Amino acid sequence: MKSKFDRDILSNLESYSSEVSVSGEDLIRLHANELPWKNEAVILALKESLPSMHINRYPEVTNSEIRQKIANYIGFETKNVLIGNGSDEIIDTIGKAFISPLDKVVIPYPTFSLYSTITKIYSGLPIMIPLNKDYAPPIKKIISEAKNAKIAIICSPNNPTGIAYTDEELKSILDTGILVILDEAYAEFNGHSGLELLNDYNNLIVMKTFSKAFGLAGFRTGYCVSSEILIDSMSKVMLPYNLNLVSMKIAEYAIQHKDFMINSVKKIKENRKYLFGALKELDGVNPIQSSANFILFETENPKVIYEELLKRKILIRYFEGKNYLRVTVGTYEECVKFISSLKEILNAC
Ligand code: PMP
Repeated sequence: MKSKFDRDILSNLESYSSEVSVSGEDLIRLHANELPWKNEAVILALKESLPSMHINRYPEVTNSEIRQKIANYIGFETKNVLIGNGSDEIIDTIGKAFISPLDKVVIPYPTFSLYSTITKIYSGLPIMIPLNKDYAPPIKKIISEAKNAKIAIICSPNNPTGIAYTDEELKSILDTGILVILDEAYAEFNGHSGLELLNDYNNLIVMKTFSKAFGLAGFRTGYCVSSEILIDSMSKVMLPYNLNLVSMKIAEYAIQHKDFMINSVKKIKENRKYLFGALKELDGVNPIQSSANFILFETENPKVIYEELLKRKILIRYFEGKNYLRVTVGTYEECVKFISSLKEILNAC
């Protein structure tokens, strides 16, 4: 649909629709790269602090308390951290601050769709660079395109492939001098972060989130880490009071109770190993080794598999026109149920 008031750019955009309108308590959700567990210690801490919260007041406008807690957690200073309503808001803020009309933004793809959407919203030009055939990062092409571009957006580990960039690869992109946005939404599942590169590069913004390994997607808290000068630029365009009191408190408790995240990552890695091994054994699918909490697998019948799984109350991620599907690593029981259902479907194909 189109209204007469739309900016022209809207005709190039679609609403974000990773969610499918299927729900129900018995649905096994393996489509959105969420954590299957809730951090009960965080819920308890929130319950205790709610009555004394000043919900009639605006939060402190610079969000300094939570920024400082995050900074301590990752070993940086408050001035290097900016917090957003999910890392989605951080991506939007990067667009607002740094993308002018016709600025070129290098985006290796397939990857998270929001990067090109935000680029288009700010009238920038997404330069989409296909991943190599084996889904490895197309480093040489990224570097050669970077010469004429302003920004590169790198997702590591990449959604939906699960493949991470090495520090050497990242350095070679950073050395071009382009502004590099490194989205580390899934880095905890890889056990490695590019945060240390910030000590040597001031053209880098690293994005992180509490939505994935910390299991707090519902509370929408993300952040980025960068040089003071880039954080200042972003602060100028970020909406005031962007984060609510509860989301900030929740992030604080999540750091306090980070043992939950550490244990969850450990369990997800075990389940990922099981899931990858089981997929590898099946005829008719080809899984890609992943450093994240999801696995991409190639198949000749993605639509049939997706729909048949859904009939069995298992929701995974379908990509229109692609020869692969993405499955989130859930609990062990969910992974077993997924594999046995997939076996059944493949046998009938
Ligand atoms: N980056 C990537 C690569 C993602 O996959 C997602 C969520 N699907 C996000 C960022 C957004 O996360 P958040 O919940 O922090 O907004």
